Amino acid sequence: MIANNGRLKIAIQKSGRLTDESVNLLRACGLEFEFSKQGLYSPCKNFDLDLLSLRDDDIPEYVQDGVADLGIVGENIVREKRARVETLAQLGYGSCRLMISVPQRSSIRTIQGLRGKRIATTYPVILSQFLRTNRLKADIVELSGSVEIAPTLDVADAICDLLSTGTTARMNGLRPLHTVLESEATLITNKKSLQEKRKKDLIDRLLIRVSGSLQARGKRYMMMNAPASAVPRLKTIIPSLKSPTVVPLAEEGMVALHSVIAEDVFWDVMEKLKKAGASDIIVVPIETIIQ
Ligand code: ATP
Ligand code: ZN
Repeated sequence: MIANNGRLKIAIQKSGRLTDESVNLLRACGLEFEFSKQGLYSPCKNFDLDLLSLRDDDIPEYVQDGVADLGIVGENIVREKRARVETLAQLGYGSCRLMISVPQRSSIRTIQGLRGKRIATTYPVILSQFLRTNRLKADIVELSGSVEIAPTLDVADAICDLLSTGTTARMNGLRPLHTVLESEATLITNKKSLQEKRKKDLIDRLLIRVSGSLQARGKRYMMMNAPASAVPRLKTIIPSLKSPTVVPLAEEGMVALHSVIAEDVFWDVMEKLKKAGASDIIVVPIETIIQ
């Protein structure tokens, strides 16, 4: 039995696609804890919070019922379970799409073509909402896994299943037809936890850290030296740089420039900066950005 000891409880996926990034996010928030994929319960040493490791499917309901105050889970599961929870933040990982696909050789070309057909899925709630919204009548074949083989077994004419964002490969001879839901990992809570002052304060503190880590994600801190005369040119090269920090150096006419830069454009930008006169370019990781 887990004590109701006034500490926050956050439910994360025990072992699966969201586990590593959820643990990393909490560590990036400065939380110290030991995590093992076998354990149920990991107390945090330097924050009044305990981690509960659960199957992702159970997380929305446990948060709704107050067994956990917070949870990290895909929006797809929250929607499917129709959980009464509040979303505090989108976390930017675990991106996927719930998609309807048909066999390559199928004559179904549009969602209208799904009328009267059989669609296999592990997401009957979301799929039936989608069909209702689009005024389509179709048979939902509810499965608990391996949905992609349903057309081959002739138990369905189409499937509605999750695909990682950016997956373009044709899966199992299937052709994507329509995206029903785009999902990513989300941080959820319940009304009751937000109403308890002590818990609300802890949640607010944690949220500041979470948004700081999310802000810092994919960003680097860049420093370089340059002749003062090159600054206007350098400013046009560095994207998203409204106002760099410019510090004079001891050497006459030279300055140091500091700025935050997105890591995916860094190499490109770095070459241009060098050409424009920058030297001694240093790039360091950023842990958090509190605005
Ligand atoms: P559990 O044992 O906890 O029930 P699971 O097998 O149901 O795990 P995973 O496959 O680990 O779940 O997926 C967890 C979540 O990761 C999904 O609910 C979804 O939000 C997200 N996700 C991201 N990409 C994919 C993908 N390609 N396929 C399935 N889920 C994905
Ligand atoms: Zn699951």
